[in-house]
Amino acid sequence: MKLIVQKFGGSSVADSDKLYNVADIITKAYSQGNEVVVVVSAQGDTTDELIEKAKSINRNASKREMDVLLSAGEQISIALLAMAIQNLGFPVVSLLGWQAGFITNSAYGSARIEKVNTSRIRNELDKKNIVIVAGFQGINKCDNITTFGRGGSDTSAVAIAASLHADLCQIYTDVEGVYTANPREFPEAKKLKEISYNEMLELATLGAQVLNNRSVEMAKKYNVELEVLSSMSKSSGTIVRSVAKMEKMFLSGVVKDTNITRVSVTGVPDQPGWAFKLFSMLAAKDINVDIILQSIGRNGTKDITFTVIKDKIDETLKILNNYVLPLETSKVIFDDNVAKVSIVGAGMETHAGVASQMFEALYEEQINIQMISTSEIKISVLIDAKDADAAVRSIHRKFVR
Ligand code: ADP
Ligand code: ASP
Ligand code: MG
Repeated sequence: MKLIVQKFGGSSVADSDKLYNVADIITKAYSQGNEVVVVVSAQGDTTDELIEKAKSINRNASKREMDVLLSAGEQISIALLAMAIQNLGFPVVSLLGWQAGFITNSAYGSARIEKVNTSRIRNELDKKNIVIVAGFQGINKCDNITTFGRGGSDTSAVAIAASLHADLCQIYTDVEGVYTANPREFPEAKKLKEISYNEMLELATLGAQVLNNRSVEMAKKYNVELEVLSSMSKSSGTIVRSVAKMEKMFLSGVVKDTNITRVSVTGVPDQPGWAFKLFSMLAAKDINVDIILQSIGRNGTKDITFTVIKDKIDETLKILNNYVLPLETSKVIFDDNVAKVSIVGAGMETHAGVASQMFEALYEEQINIQMISTSEIKISVLIDAKDADAAVRSIHRKFVR
């Protein structure tokens, strides 16, 4: 007997047929003699619809109330899935995040899991129940509902798998695994048999939505092996583990992210401390900055350019303008018609010339690079948003055969 955690994303449970399809997968694993804990997301676009509904009532609703609202999406799907499983004649119980023992901090909307008290889940498994848990939610020390941020159900599944020392954690989604590029936009993308935690973490952080980056971080920390696979097909998926077997190519993926804005603070004094001042003010408001470029000082001033995610731009401009407006030489400008295109691969560390090949691919499409940033296993470039797809295609052609 194995203990299996299975997670099904929103598209896998979007309607009755899909719920029954998922119920078949679950009950098959159970019938083979396994203990099965299932994590589900809200159906289809429910979470987006709830956010729109909230905006129509109050655009500045508190994060606490948003979490009460958004957690309802998962509440609906666990109950409906349990009903489908009951109808197939199997013992099942659905649990909300708090019933399943998810204790979090109080960062509404992006709460971190502090621990999972698994006694209730264990108890239900001992009673031979299939246990269905609502993803992406928990409870804080004041007994308030919290949610983990978009895509957070992946993290719920990994947290349960880690806490229960599950034998297997399967992430069922609407594609057959992790690909070398988003397979919905780039049909030439290839499915990876395996990928390491580190590479998956980079891909997820750089915009490959297939796994939430926090779930990968947690899987790496607790050494939970993940299998990403499709709920709609029987093909084998992708294994995410600490060391992935090297395939022929050393690049694991090309990712694009158009959810970013480039911000420049021009004409700040060419003196020590400016980068520190600007970025510490943004950090204090929890605004993450990415690719950073600082110009060489000229005529006593310099420019600092960086990127932030699109929905932080208003707050960023407000903070920076307040600060630099009194300076006569300085101004803040931004451009949200930009995209970050990145390549990720552990093999990069040992292969020379990867960057030049990437830049050659961009040159072949006459794509201009605005900014570049590199780390051991990734290279990112900032380019015009309209060039993003051509860039991914060209880079992919160069590296993946
Ligand atoms: P779920 O609802 O199951 O959580 P998501 O929509 O969050 O599913 O994630 C699956 C989607 O991730 C796919 O439909 C695919 O378009 C997208 N995706 C982006 N990059 C990749 C990639 N490199 N490999 C696989 N899927 C990717
Ligand atoms: N329903 C939430 C979302 O849409 C959580 C998830 O799907 O993982 O982001
Ligand atoms: Mg998801």
